[in-house]
Amino acid sequence: MQAEDQPLSGRAKPDDINLDIALRPRTLDDLEGQDRIKENLRILLEAAKARGEALDHVLFYGPPGLGKTTLAHIIAYEMGANLRVTSGPAIERSGDLAAILTNLQQGDVLFIDEVHRLGRAVEEILYPAMEDFVLDIVVGKGPAARSIRLKLPHFTVVGATTRLALLTAPLRDRFGAIFRLDFYQEAAIKSIIRRAARLLAVEIDDRGATAIASRSRGTPRVALRLLRRVRDYALVRSNNRITQEAVIAMMKLLEVDELGLDTTDRRVLSALVEKFDGGPVGLDTLAASISEEADTIMDVSEPYLLQMGFVSRTPRGRVATRLAYQHLDIPYPEERQIMTQPPLFSGKADAEPPTETEAEEQTT
Ligand code: ADP
Repeated sequence: MQAEDQPLSGRAKPDDINLDIALRPRTLDDLEGQDRIKENLRILLEAAKARGEALDHVLFYGPPGLGKTTLAHIIAYEMGANLRVTSGPAIERSGDLAAILTNLQQGDVLFIDEVHRLGRAVEEILYPAMEDFVLDIVVGKGPAARSIRLKLPHFTVVGATTRLALLTAPLRDRFGAIFRLDFYQEAAIKSIIRRAARLLAVEIDDRGATAIASRSRGTPRVALRLLRRVRDYALVRSNNRITQEAVIAMMKLLEVDELGLDTTDRRVLSALVEKFDGGPVGLDTLAASISEEADTIMDVSEPYLLQMGFVSRTPRGRVATRLAYQHLDIPYPEERQIMTQPPLFSGKADAEPPTETEAEEQTT
C-alpha cells in the first residue's frame, strides 16, 4: 500500500482540498495549539505593522499536516497582504522564479512549499531577492550579454519544509525566523475536531471526539480526514451522530488501531521485529523489505513511531523498542537490552557507508 491510500498520512490528498479550504482557520486566534509559535508570530506581525514594513522571511518545518500552509495563509491575512502560493518542485527554471518575483507587490507574501526542493540555479536567484530585494537578470547572449539589476518591492517569503536538514545553509540563513511545528496535544486536536464538526453541521459527543483525537497522531489533517470518514458512517449507520461506537466501527473498517497506527505503520514495525530481529537496520533497507518508499516512511510513519516510543534511532539504524514488541504481542528478547547498548568502541570500520536518506537523518 502506498502512502496515498493511508488514512493516517499527514500528506494532503485530493479529497482533502475542499475541506482544507472550508475549515482552514483564518486568524491567529482561530488557530488551535502551537502556542509558542503563535506568541512569536504575534510579536513579529505587530512589530512589522508598527514599522510599516513587510514581515521578515519565515520558515516553518515539521511533518506534513501540522499547519504550515495554514500559517502562511494566516500571516498574509494578518498582514492584510496578498498571498502567492508556489512550491519548490513547481519552480523548475530560474525564469519561472523571476516571473513570480517581478509580479509581486509591496508587502506580498510568497509561500514556497517544499522549499528544500528548489533547484540550485533557482536558489541563486532567490538569495539576493530575499536579502536585498533585487533581481539580477542576464540579457543578451555571448560577449554582448550583460547583467542588469532590477529592484523588487519588499515582500515576505514564507517557506515550508518537512526536511530541514535538506535545506542549504545559505537559504536557511536568509530566513529571519525559523519555527518547528510539533505534533498537537490531544486536547488541541479535540478542539479542532469540535470546531470542524460544528462547521460541517454534524453532532459529535465528547467520547466520539476523544476517540477520533486519540487516533489522529497529533496531526490536524489526519483528525479532519478521520472526522470526515466517521461523518459518512454516522450519516448512514448512526442517526447522523458521531459517538465512540461509530468511531470504533469506522476505524475497524479503515484498519486503524486504537493507538492511531495503520497497516503501513504496523508493517514497518513487524518487519523491523520479525525480519530484522528488532534492528538495527537502515531506513532504506527497511523500506525496501516492505516495498515502501523510504520517503514515505521517513515523513509519515517514522515520526509517529518515534513519538510513540516504538522505534528509536541509533547511529547504526532503526531499533524496535520493548513497547513495539508489546504492541505486536511478541515477547521481548531480554538479551536485546545489552545488544542495543551503544558499543564502547564504535565499530565504524566495518559499517557500510550511509545511504542518502541515512546521511540526511544523521544531521536531523
Ligand atoms: P501542512 O502545510 O503542514 O501540510 P496544512 O496547513 O495544510 O498542513 O493543514 C492541514 C489541515 O489541517 C488544514 O485543513 C488545516 O485547516 C488544518 N489545520 C492545521 N493546523 C490547524 C490548527 N492549528 N487549527 C485548526 N486546523 C488546523
